[in-house]
Amino acid sequence: MSHPATASETAPRALTSLTDEESLFRQSVREFADQQVRPLAPEMDEQGKFSADLIKQFFELGLMGIAIPEEYGGQGGSFFNSILAVEELSRADASAGVVVDVQNTLVNNALLIWASEEQKRRYLPRLAADTVGAYALSEAGSGSDAFALATKAEDRGDVYVLNGRKLWITNGAEAGLFIVFANVAPEKGYRGITAFLVERDFTGFTVGKKENKLGIRASSTCELILEDCAVKKENVLGEVGRGYKIAIETLNEGRIGIGAQMVGLSEGALEYGISYTKERQQFGNPIARFQGVQFQIAQIATELEAARLMVYNAARLKDAGENFVAQAAMAKLFTSQVAEHVTSQVVELYGGYGYTKDYPAEKYYRDAKIGKIYEGTSNMQLQTIAKLILGDI
Ligand SMILES: Cc1cc2nc3c(=O)[nH]c(=O)nc-3n(C[C@H](O)[C@H](O)[C@H](O)COP(=O)(O)OP(=O)(O)OC[C@H]3O[C@@H](n4cnc5c(N)ncnc54)[C@H](O)[C@@H]3O)c2cc1C
Repeated sequence: MSHPATASETAPRALTSLTDEESLFRQSVREFADQQVRPLAPEMDEQGKFSADLIKQFFELGLMGIAIPEEYGGQGGSFFNSILAVEELSRADASAGVVVDVQNTLVNNALLIWASEEQKRRYLPRLAADTVGAYALSEAGSGSDAFALATKAEDRGDVYVLNGRKLWITNGAEAGLFIVFANVAPEKGYRGITAFLVERDFTGFTVGKKENKLGIRASSTCELILEDCAVKKENVLGEVGRGYKIAIETLNEGRIGIGAQMVGLSEGALEYGISYTKERQQFGNPIARFQGVQFQIAQIATELEAARLMVYNAARLKDAGENFVAQAAMAKLFTSQVAEHVTSQVVELYGGYGYTKDYPAEKYYRDAKIGKIYEGTSNMQLQTIAKLILGDI
């Protein structure tokens, strides 16, 4: 007869408890981020260009296929592993965080859930080995109202012919594979929206202008142009007319990744803030000796702790197969508020130096701002949360 489980064996673990495997993984990404990503971050930011060599290293380390099963060439990790990677990379550079985030939480994730076996065999090994992915939903005229998208896909027998333009597409400059949302039956409204797997060299597909941005400047954000782009029917992802469901579900998951990005960059900024206040002398003391400064640090550290718990909880719920939609929206809403506050406070802790490009604080502050905008603005998160809380009124 087996012994009954003890309380410690059955009790849920703390949200921040990591398994040995998770701890090792986090440590290895942290070391890589500190040694390889951090030194490149200022120049990539200045130039608005992501290092191709760094992307190569992401692939070599398995960071572009974290949750892809080993049989498709990936690491066979969990969603939570992806969250840890995004957090650790963003601690050094939020652009590095979002490159890996979009690949894992949006593109790979969409294929893992929706792709046919044949599509998985064709694309997942490439996504794990050498092909950057991008997720193309937004257009100039449809952002929050994403399902008002105007890109059309016309049925021409063996192929769909896509026409339209996408805007704001992360990883656009580097990607080899794009999940493009287009409408096959505009008269049916959102029920015509369909997801297509579009390769960069398909005829009629061009990557257009790259945006010159406030923050996450190294992460490319591009326009996509589709002019009579013929996509074989075998490249429809999921079912025709079900693209809206793919978009809703993948973005629910993606939001947790943005939360991880916000947590990671807040952590990075706070660490700089703490070490600066211990060095900077005023009134004959390191400024960290002043209780006013200590309280400012204690406040943002507390906000960061709460933000991290929300992200970890949402990610653990997803891995456990439980409902996480409200928790993901709340995590994104809250972490982006926290990131804005933490990074703004760190700029102030640096005083005048925080306002210059000679110190890292201003970059964290600029990078934080995107959290309230992409993958659904803060108002859209509030709308989702309110709907779930209030139900039909
Ligand atoms: C750097 C960057 C990277 C991006 N990456 C991608 C990507 O990879 N793929 C992709 O598909 N898209 C991407 N986007 C697009 C992004 O998701 C959209 O910008 C975002 O959803 C907001 O849409 P919008 O810019 O059209 O703003 P709008 O929808 O025009 O919103 C403008 C303002 O109005 C508010 N608003 C709108 N409707 C309502 C409402 N009903 N109630 C209350 N307030 C409302 C919004 O909250 C916002 O404050 C990216 C954007 C940026 C800036």
